Amino acid sequence: MTKRLYYDSAEMREFDSVVEDVAPLTPEQSRPAVILRETAFYPTSGGQVHDTGWLTVNGGDRGAERLRVSEVADAEDGRIVHYLEAPAKLPLAGAAVHGSIDPERRRDHMQQHSGQHVLSAAFVELYQMPTVSFHMGEDYCSIDLATPSVKSAQIAGAEKRANQVVFENRPVRVRYVSRAEAERLGLRKLPPAERDELRLVEVADFDLSACGGTHVGASGQIGSILLRKTEKVRQGTRVEFVCGERAVRMARRDYSALSEAAALFSAQLWDVPEQIRKSADDSKRACKQKDDALDQLAELMALAALHSQAETNGRKIVVRAFFDRDISFAKLFAQKVTRANTPVIALVGSVVNPPGLVFAQTSAQTVGGSVDMGALLKQVLSTVGGRGGGSRDFAQGGVPAGSHVNVEQLLREAAGTIEA
Ligand SMILES: [Zn+2]
Repeated sequence: MTKRLYYDSAEMREFDSVVEDVAPLTPEQSRPAVILRETAFYPTSGGQVHDTGWLTVNGGDRGAERLRVSEVADAEDGRIVHYLEAPAKLPLAGAAVHGSIDPERRRDHMQQHSGQHVLSAAFVELYQMPTVSFHMGEDYCSIDLATPSVKSAQIAGAEKRANQVVFENRPVRVRYVSRAEAERLGLRKLPPAERDELRLVEVADFDLSACGGTHVGASGQIGSILLRKTEKVRQGTRVEFVCGERAVRMARRDYSALSEAAALFSAQLWDVPEQIRKSADDSKRACKQKDDALDQLAELMALAALHSQAETNGRKIVVRAFFDRDISFAKLFAQKVTRANTPVIALVGSVVNPPGLVFAQTSAQTVGGSVDMGALLKQVLSTVGGRGGGSRDFAQGGVPAGSHVNVEQLLREAAGTIEA
């Protein structure tokens, strides 16, 4: 088993060790890996993400070699595997190495992880909501609470309490106890019975839980805890949060976005929601006005078309291709035309993308023989590979987009079929 230096010193960023084993690049393993006698690198576990950094190998005659550690993982046998960025000149077993951990990444992880302890304890203290899992992502972290829902006042309450504990700068201590003792102590979280000795992390007079992660030395180093959105998940409610520098970064990003939105409205930041509501209402009203105007326009155009069209064989056939109005307007026009009291057939099309045809007739169309609009449309479209269909009185279809099909020509063909 690899000796874990971070257990007793979460502050250690530099350490010396010896190479115990080397796993070279093989077809099965895409990256070479190194195992050390002891390490301060943290492997991904318990919700906390692994460290990255460097291993400097003193290769004697070969000179010093600096190897990038891109991932660190726990092996099943208790050894810690340092994956190296390939290709790397690998050290030999027994070589002395110096490890350097990326300090900013580690500090960030310690802030997030320690912040999680404080936040989880705050949810238990205030609302008896236990944490069932913890996730650390690239941008934000989350805990899943065993509760069907969390009110926004509870989010604010837990955030306030957690930050209070941060500001009080309480000591965070690590100690080891037997399992029996841990059970007596009443931990917030007791891991499944695997080991006899447990590593306890205590935020003085506030939280006590078993954990193998890296934590800050005093709660003030967490900086701050900012709660964000909540979401219903299978096992309860997920609460997103960020701590320390991430909280500042997120707040900065939110502020920039909000400032940009406020500038668009020439408004104060806190007036943005009201401005958006107003703008959405305006836009809804404008849409309604536009729809009403189009309806009136279609009505008038239908009246004009009916008026100027002579009757043949006891009915009127209105043929119309639109070049500046879309298919939904063409449909509206066809509906208005065929609402007339006298028998009318409307053969209408639009060339505006996507081009299409609408064939309609007044229901109870009996004069001059029966015409099936659906069948007529299918017949006309079949000549150009279009698709569409409908009932006896109303049919609609699309002319293949991008083709140079002449919509006017198709309408003339349809009219010719009826008149023939
Ligand atoms: Zn922890």
